[in-house]
Amino acid sequence: MSNLLKAKKLIEGINEAGYEAYIIGGYVRDLLLGFDNQDIDIATSAHPTVVKQLFSKTILTGIDHGTVTVIFEGVKFEVTTYRTDGKYLNNRRPKDVHFVSSLQTDIKRRDFTINALALDNYGNLIDYVDGKKDIEAKLIRTVGAPEARFNEDALRMLRAFRFVAKLGFNIEQETLSAIKKVGSLIQNISAERILMELEKMIYGNYFFVAIEVMINTKFHHFLPHLKSGIEKIAVTKFLPTDLSEFLTICAVCGAYHEIVELPLSKQMIRKITLVYEMYSLEISEFSNLILYRNGLESCLLTNKLNVFLRNKDDLKEKIIAKYNSLPIYKICDLKFKGDDIINLYSKKPGSWIGMVLDDLSLKVLNGELKNEYNELKNYLINKHGIE
Ligand code: ATP
Ligand code: MG
Repeated sequence: MSNLLKAKKLIEGINEAGYEAYIIGGYVRDLLLGFDNQDIDIATSAHPTVVKQLFSKTILTGIDHGTVTVIFEGVKFEVTTYRTDGKYLNNRRPKDVHFVSSLQTDIKRRDFTINALALDNYGNLIDYVDGKKDIEAKLIRTVGAPEARFNEDALRMLRAFRFVAKLGFNIEQETLSAIKKVGSLIQNISAERILMELEKMIYGNYFFVAIEVMINTKFHHFLPHLKSGIEKIAVTKFLPTDLSEFLTICAVCGAYHEIVELPLSKQMIRKITLVYEMYSLEISEFSNLILYRNGLESCLLTNKLNVFLRNKDDLKEKIIAKYNSLPIYKICDLKFKGDDIINLYSKKPGSWIGMVLDDLSLKVLNGELKNEYNELKNYLINKHGIE
């Protein structure tokens, strides 16, 4: 059964309990555009406690904002109670919300007209804000006065660029003017929320269009760590494949120290750092040792930066071929192991073993030794004069 049919069944369940429920937001927008979207959000007049009682599998992660995640026939649906938002403090999402009984009121708190369409179980479109017209005109327009809406939640401005990147739409004139006017408010938004929207923007088919519009509005001036990277992307047409690539170009464009302070996974910070170092050292020969130590992904990204930012030759295929024929990928790939070393030296285990293994791996990677048991053993015997 498709997600849509499951959603309809879920809605039926809510309706039977005496409450309204509609499919809302991105799914409806994408349906009108003919895009595939498996993520279905539902708006309902039922209070979250009721939603929780109606279904056996629920997750209460967004309960403060009225959202209950219902796992229905194996699919997750976000079911959000109609609400208006409480007072907005510092241009951020409100802490408290008020549940209301009408869909029309709920629609008013939504960001853009194209995201404010609802669909009932009979296929009727409920369109209080001319969202369909804006979809047809390919326009991103706030629900209500743009400046006020951006004052409430400044992240909406970045979301506008995210939807440009996803849909290739234009930002409607008044909405665009408001971004130019109050763009600086984005500085009040947490890095976590900004990074989440940026990540979605990178995956958009119209990423470069969004970058162009952002630069035209000067909005990127208020993302100071990202400004140079964004400008470089526009000039070089470097297309980041994910957030780590996007942040790495920002790092090599002068914001390394700020980028590694962002709330990112350790793994991402490590990758950004490795590439930043290789790029700064102008490494363009990817030796076995570098491939072994820094990994394929980091070397490929360094190469990509060299190609786009320094006009170097593209070594991608060579790097991949070299990586695929490395003699070892990890210390434990060595044919002469830690235990063999202890036996050979007849000494108590200690940190010295690591040093011996490092020596062996270096020689193997440099091609001075073959990764064969006897060859490695004989090398150690000769080197240390072991009887
Ligand atoms: P996508 O399919 O790319 O996820 P989406 O429209 O579903 O797009 P979400 O970020 O998942 O985007 O948000 C779901 C819906 O919630 C939006 O369509 C919009 O109606 C509403 N929404 C989300 N964030 C905001 C916000 N900051 N202010 C107002 N409404 C918002
Ligand atoms: Mg969504």
